[in-house]
Amino acid sequence: MDFRTICVHGSDKRYDVTGAVSVPIFQSATFAHPGVNRSTGYDYSRTQNPTREYLEAAIARLEGGSDALAFSSGMAAVALVMELFSPGDHIIASDDLYGGSIRLFANPSAARGLKFTYSDAYDAASLASALTPATKALFIETPSNPMMHVVDIAAAAEFASAHGLLLVVDNTFMTPYFQRPLELGADIVIHSGTKYLCGHNDTLCGFAVVKDAGLSERLRFLFKTIGPCLAPFDSWLLIRSLKTLALRMEAQQSNARELAEWLLTQPKIKAVHYPGLPEHPQYDISRRQASGFGAMLSFSADTPETAVGILERVRLILYAESLGGVESLITYPMLQTHADIPEAEREAKGIDGCLLRLSVGIESPDDLIADLDHAINGR
Ligand SMILES: *Cc1c(COP(=O)(O)O)cnc(C)c1O
Repeated sequence: MDFRTICVHGSDKRYDVTGAVSVPIFQSATFAHPGVNRSTGYDYSRTQNPTREYLEAAIARLEGGSDALAFSSGMAAVALVMELFSPGDHIIASDDLYGGSIRLFANPSAARGLKFTYSDAYDAASLASALTPATKALFIETPSNPMMHVVDIAAAAEFASAHGLLLVVDNTFMTPYFQRPLELGADIVIHSGTKYLCGHNDTLCGFAVVKDAGLSERLRFLFKTIGPCLAPFDSWLLIRSLKTLALRMEAQQSNARELAEWLLTQPKIKAVHYPGLPEHPQYDISRRQASGFGAMLSFSADTPETAVGILERVRLILYAESLGGVESLITYPMLQTHADIPEAEREAKGIDGCLLRLSVGIESPDDLIADLDHAINGR
């Protein structure tokens, strides 16, 4: 079935006898049993709830997985996946991860005895030198946040399988509409569903998607034990969001391309980082492994004063954390998502006072350009 059809008709399972077109919200914590040793298939919503189950089936199909788990946030998904590992286990993570994942690894995960090495995941030699006998996983995010570096997922999968590692890919920026890491050899796909999958800047959620039945069983056990599950109403909001995922991704990408090209022509903008520009260093890898380039970009102003001025002057584009929604948002990574990273390390990654990150929405591109023109050039 085509991706766009799955977006609209997420699962074949029907829960309703009335013919309701919209999936019912089963706002129930518990489910009565018809008799001893008999079950409707549901017992308690921490383990499973029909509305969440429908959403999970849709996400699993879209990612090409056998199972998907829906969490109350993206971080809850990352944290649960970390529970697969034991004290002493070592994980190689790509250099340029979401700040919240770095904070998780450095605090609760480290306190539990997990060890992390950050490596240039674009470079096989760097990955190989990070390996230890205790290495159990490779955790990558591509394109990365906020520098928009692209990792070759198939090459990472080859490295992981050659060394018996689980490959975990945070696919938040691309969504399965543009990129399906399980098909390229990843073992676990993670999402902050708060971003494009929700797409309306109104609901937090997260996903973990797997192909392997054994991994699904281990994650399901941890999930019902720890309880980071998505609520029925929020599950329903996501089911509704998915119906327009393909349309939103196309519209947002088209706007992002137009804005990236316009920013390139601006004298006060020194650099534009967008994988869809042919001059992007990993443009060819992007074209090979994904069917699009997404709608996230970052750019460097000529001075920190120009960058701060842009944030102060935008009117339509909102100065707010998060990304992926229909509303365009601009962020200052240095002060927001990456504020917890030591300054020297942050600057070495290019995340300095000049860098801004833009999540492009579905507004008219002309209005977005007019807003940026005003913010950058005072016109
Ligand atoms: C936002 C984000 C997360 C965390 O997700 P939440 O839903 O905010 O908990 C993880 N990874 C990436 C790439 C993100 O952008």
